[in-house]
Amino acid sequence: MAGPTPPRAILFDCDGVLADSEALAALVVAEDLSARFWPVAPEECRDVFLGRAVPDMVQVVEQRFGRVPDTWPAEIAARLTERMGREVVAVPGALAALRRLRAAGLPLACASNSSRAELAAKLGRLGIRDLFEGRVFSFEDVERPKPYPDLYLAAAAACDAAPEECVVVEDSLPGIRAARAAGCRVLALVWELPEALLRAQGAEPFRHMDELPALLGVA
Ligand SMILES: [Mg+2]
Repeated sequence: MAGPTPPRAILFDCDGVLADSEALAALVVAEDLSARFWPVAPEECRDVFLGRAVPDMVQVVEQRFGRVPDTWPAEIAARLTERMGREVVAVPGALAALRRLRAAGLPLACASNSSRAELAAKLGRLGIRDLFEGRVFSFEDVERPKPYPDLYLAAAAACDAAPEECVVVEDSLPGIRAARAAGCRVLALVWELPEALLRAQGAEPFRHMDELPALLGVA
């Protein structure tokens, strides 16, 4: 039986898909908030902030804890960039899958709710920046972060592909919503969230990055 036809382009989320960064991000945020006398466990930050851009995090922090200084977004962004650049590791199987897809000649893009600096730090540490050939998009590069479709629309355009011709690889609810709103097919790595929840959002769940090339019709 013939496998699926490869898409025109593949658009990757970064956190929880390429970089195993969510636990480290939650730890950095929890340390910061705890030092401001708002003791909070990393696990709670992980639930609350998964997939959110820093400007959206500010709102949630202020609703739950209290007013943060105007400099907080810049401070937390700098701290995240520094820690990611030193400590983040890849999601198992992600690097091999990326190289396989690139070797098959498929255009790849990365679209993330991270800041530009943090995204560069993560892709740099993982040694995969060049695989995207400049098609790397931060929330700072578009008008609105995920769950709005802007990031995936920009990434598809950079690949010279219509959104319907692209497959997005995601793991979070804001990310899946963004990709579906853009009109893309979404494969969702079962990583932080349960399979049924991902499916209910219109994504096709899969369990390991090793499976990705075959799922995309790349043998
Ligand atoms: Mg993610």
